[in-house]
Amino acid sequence: MDLHDHSRAGLEHAAGAERNSGLKVLKFGGTSVGSPEMIARVAELIAQAAATHRVVVVVSARAGVTNTLVAAYEALEAGTLDIEALLALLRQEHRALAAVLKDDPALRQGYMSVLEAELKRLHEALQAAQAQSDAAWRDEVLAAGERLMAPLLAATLKARGLSAFAQDATALLVTDRMHGAASVDLEASRVRVMSWFARLSPHSVPVVTGFIGATPEGRTTTLGRGGSDYSAAVLAALLKASVLERWTDVDGLYTEDPRKNPQAEHYDTLVLEEAWAWNQAGRLGMHRKALDPLVAAGIPVHIRSTLAPERPGTWLIPAQPPQALAV
Ligand code: ADP
Ligand code: ASP
Ligand code: MG
Repeated sequence: MDLHDHSRAGLEHAAGAERNSGLKVLKFGGTSVGSPEMIARVAELIAQAAATHRVVVVVSARAGVTNTLVAAYEALEAGTLDIEALLALLRQEHRALAAVLKDDPALRQGYMSVLEAELKRLHEALQAAQAQSDAAWRDEVLAAGERLMAPLLAATLKARGLSAFAQDATALLVTDRMHGAASVDLEASRVRVMSWFARLSPHSVPVVTGFIGATPEGRTTTLGRGGSDYSAAVLAALLKASVLERWTDVDGLYTEDPRKNPQAEHYDTLVLEEAWAWNQAGRLGMHRKALDPLVAAGIPVHIRSTLAPERPGTWLIPAQPPQALAV
């Protein structure tokens, strides 16, 4: 069977047929949640998916926030960080994003409390890092971007009547101790993810922080820049999702980065294993480990544009049947 002969609907059907859950994992990157309007748009896309499927959402920090945190940590090490100015900037940026909740004062107020609690946690991490700078405290600082975003997206979904909640991934993803570029221990994580998922109501919509996990001792780790792709892939593989939808700011994959070369050509479909090799070589703009768990589990990926959801995007279709799911 030539994978490229499938109609798109057929592809989606074929991809879903052997999956038991009808579950979609939806991953939204930082540019997809860059403004109140974008967050509202993302909530609409999630609501549409939740009307027909169980969904698990993975979200990144707002675009630019992780860069701010990286720069802040460097300034801290150099002894030049103005902690109050950093906290004020993050407060102001996230208060502005919370305008998406303007019609629901109670939810907006609830988010303001979470925002203050997360800024307090960040402040404490920065103070600890000042006392003893190390890679573990750096990860605790970098994690703040996702921890500020997931509760806001969850609140936006609640305002639409969905039973959404924010989930910190440190409770789900067990990693090694390679702070800054941690790898997920799939076996250890599987136990946590499965029991977590089994306890959820079928109608609930978890919004999981991308990019972060925790060591077996419970210290926060980060998975490397762009790591939310990897987080989403791990969850999709462990939960045997029917598809991972990666929502981003371009309408799929191209022969080259379409921002650098406007002549780059769009791929409608790729064989997942082939895309994996290209991604390993850094050609597809995703985290290098993002496709590893999906190849092992035989999970299709659909890359789509948050800005142009009507566009067909790019399908990555597994050629190999799923392995006996060691994952
Ligand atoms: P997100 O915030 O959604 O994670 P990223 O910026 O991490 O978004 O990834 C999307 C970007 O990847 C695109 O804007 C594009 O510039 C870049 N990219 C690099 N190579 C490719 C490629 N071959 N096809 C599509 N996008 C690519
Ligand atoms: N926020 C993290 C980063 O900027 C993770 C991600 O965007 O996927 O690297
Ligand atoms: Mg990214």
